[in-house]
Amino acid sequence: MSVGKQELLAWLEGLQRVYSENRQRLTELDSAIGDADHGINMDRGFTAAKAELAGNPPTDIRAALQAVAATLIRSVGGASGPLYGTFFLRAGAACAGRQELGAADVLTMFGAGIEGVQQRGKAAAGDKTMLDALLPALAAMEKSSESGGTAAEMLADGAAAAETGMMATVPMQARKGRASYLGPRSVGHQDPGATSAWLLLKTAAGVLAP
Ligand code: ADP
Ligand code: MG
Repeated sequence: MSVGKQELLAWLEGLQRVYSENRQRLTELDSAIGDADHGINMDRGFTAAKAELAGNPPTDIRAALQAVAATLIRSVGGASGPLYGTFFLRAGAACAGRQELGAADVLTMFGAGIEGVQQRGKAAAGDKTMLDALLPALAAMEKSSESGGTAAEMLADGAAAAETGMMATVPMQARKGRASYLGPRSVGHQDPGATSAWLLLKTAAGVLAP
C-alpha cells in the first residue's frame, strides 16, 4: 500500500493524540535531566499543528508536513521545537510534487528529516539525544528497504529500532542539550527526546502502514 495525503494527515493527528497522552511521562523524564517541559512542549506543538491543519487544509503531502514544521517552530520554545520543526521541514521538502509515497519514498522522507535534525542540532550518535532513537531507526529502515520490505515492514522495523535506541540512552552521559549540563549525573535516565522520537516512529508504523 502507498501513503497518500490522508494517511499522512492521520499520522500527524495521531501524533497530537499520542503526545497528549504521553505529556506527563515525557515531562517526568525531562524533570530528571532537564527542565520538566518536554511533554508540555510536544503536546503544545502538536495541538497547535492539528489546529493549523484543520483550519488551513493543506493541498498536498509537502504542504501538510511544512505546515507542521512552521507551527512547531513557532509554538514550541524548547530545543525540541526547532529540531522537530527541521525534521518536518526537510521531510516535506523531500516529498515535493508527490501525491503518493511508496516504501522508498517514505524512507527518503525520514532520511531527509533525520539528516535535518543532525545538521540543526550538531549531535552525534551516543550524545543521549533524540538522534539515539532516530539514527538506529533510519539504519533499520534502510536495511528493510534494501531487502525489499514493504512500507509497513520498514516502519515496524524502524519503530522497533527506535525503541531499542531509546532504551540505550539510559546509561549514556549527555553531551548535547540541557541534560549535558548535568555531566555524569545525566547517566541512568532515559532521554526524553529519544522517547518522543520513538513515539513518532511508533505512531507512523501504526497509522501509515497498519
Ligand atoms: P529543552 O531542552 O530546551 O527544554 P525539550 O525539553 O523540549 O527542550 O527537549 C529536550 C530534548 O531535546 C532532549 O531530551 C534531547 O533529546 C533533545 N535535544 C537537545 N539538544 C539536542 C541536539 N543538539 N540535537 C538533538 N537533540 C537534542
Ligand atoms: Mg526541557
